[in-house]
Amino acid sequence: MLNANLSPDVVNGFLDGKPKLLLIDGKFVPAVSGRTFDSINPATGKVLAQVAEGGVEDIDLAVAAARRAFDDGPWSRFTPFERQAVLLRLADLVEANFDEIAMLDTLDLGAPITNTRARKQRAVALLRYYAGQATTIHGQTLPNSSAGEVLSYTVKEPIGVVGAIIPWNGPFGMAVWKLAPALAAGCTLVLKPAEPAPLSPLRLGELCLEAGIPPGVVNVVNGPGSVVGAALAAHPGVDKISFTGSTATGQAIVRAAAGNVKKVTLELGGKSPNIVFDDADLDAAVPGAAMAVFANSGQICSAGTRLFVQRGIYDEFVERVSVFTRKLRVGSPLDPNTQLGPLVSEVQLERVTGYLESGKAQGARAAVGGGRLLSDDLAGGYFVEPTLFADVTDQMKIAQEEIFGPVISALPFDTAEEAVARGNATTYGLGSGVWTNNLANAHRVAKGLRAGSVWVNCYQLMDPAVPFGGYKMSGTGRESGPDHIEDFLETKAVWIKTG
Ligand code: NAP
Ligand code: MG
Repeated sequence: MLNANLSPDVVNGFLDGKPKLLLIDGKFVPAVSGRTFDSINPATGKVLAQVAEGGVEDIDLAVAAARRAFDDGPWSRFTPFERQAVLLRLADLVEANFDEIAMLDTLDLGAPITNTRARKQRAVALLRYYAGQATTIHGQTLPNSSAGEVLSYTVKEPIGVVGAIIPWNGPFGMAVWKLAPALAAGCTLVLKPAEPAPLSPLRLGELCLEAGIPPGVVNVVNGPGSVVGAALAAHPGVDKISFTGSTATGQAIVRAAAGNVKKVTLELGGKSPNIVFDDADLDAAVPGAAMAVFANSGQICSAGTRLFVQRGIYDEFVERVSVFTRKLRVGSPLDPNTQLGPLVSEVQLERVTGYLESGKAQGARAAVGGGRLLSDDLAGGYFVEPTLFADVTDQMKIAQEEIFGPVISALPFDTAEEAVARGNATTYGLGSGVWTNNLANAHRVAKGLRAGSVWVNCYQLMDPAVPFGGYKMSGTGRESGPDHIEDFLETKAVWIKTG
């Protein structure tokens, strides 16, 4: 059960007024340059904490520590059961400290406290799921057709040092999603959080030490992506990059990783279609379509931002989603009744309001919302109105580009074939939704959509056991699910002549 109110004081032990440091080789240290940057609370625009700003030298130190811990350190001697035990201890610590973690993300990212507290279950479940996998990694004995007696078998080995680069839209959960499979596989890690939300990944670093994870196994280096992220992606001592972020940065990472041919997995952007048929249960589809975008103020990669509605119900549906949207409570992320907080940063505010202007200029009609949200009690915060644009055409910028804000583009369609074709007519392929009571429709559309996830009569469900990721320019590789851990493993074939 959640308490109705949680005091921001819960983070006072962590935010003690001193700069937050980098975690390198089991110690919290300042950046080599001595530089810091401000972590901002987007609900007020005020400085929350000073954070050590890493540079290339700090990445060198962190990678060297991760290399030592992997190549000769204690981590490589941990048995699967020991890795599992450590991850389970970390899960318990995360569970026990989650009020503080949730408050850090609420203050740093602006996500409503009720939502950040609800993320506990997923963070803990991810750690326990991958802890389970630590003891299931195995090779195979494979028959071969060589002359004579030759035994062949495979061994799975950890890939080595992993560079994990995460976005700001769910900092703690993203950090756990990278860290848990890497550690379960026996890898070591250098984690690079995003500058707009650097704090909770540092708290995760503290909990890793408390759980008994040896020095150098988990390192956390904040700093500008163009410097610290780029250095990590290019580093010859890093064996794999696991990245979540924008498609443009993903492309830069692939280029940077070419130097030592790192393995790269990418979870990138999206412009996901959410398709509502006229036979759908509209009482479920109306909130479903709205919250498929407005959750986390639209700052979710798989948000169902292109809302295709069958023509016969288009006007009614737009009206009903507008009515629902007007009732959403936008405001202070600290208020347990708030449903939408601010955007993460001033940069993001400029970006999203730019798209709102572009939509209007290109002839879309804001059925609800359409501008920045300004009021005395929201002063200084980066708030925008949750917005539904009607009369959108496929060619408009708001229907083509990822906005990463609370903006829905509603588009009418006639047939299932047309909805699939137009749904697929983008370079992305991350999420997708179908709302229908017709089973054949559901199957036909689910089969036709080129997307990593298809949600039928629901949206955005996630589970550690079910893979998530993108087709096309939404990425490569899948996170979660039984095969995710393979991305952190090498396969060695051993041949033994026994005859
Ligand atoms: P971003 O600008 O690509 O940043 C992501 C991360 O990469 C940040 O840590 C960033 O650091 C770092 N970075 C920036 N430039 C880099 C470079 N040249 N080399 C290496 N790292 C670099 O994305 P964002 O604005 O944080 O996040 C929003 C994007 O992430 C959206 O496109 C969204 O769709 C995508 N996303 C995808 C998923 C998914 O699972 N598919 C989930 C969430 C978000 P700094 O921020 O410190 O510069
Ligand atoms: Mg912040």
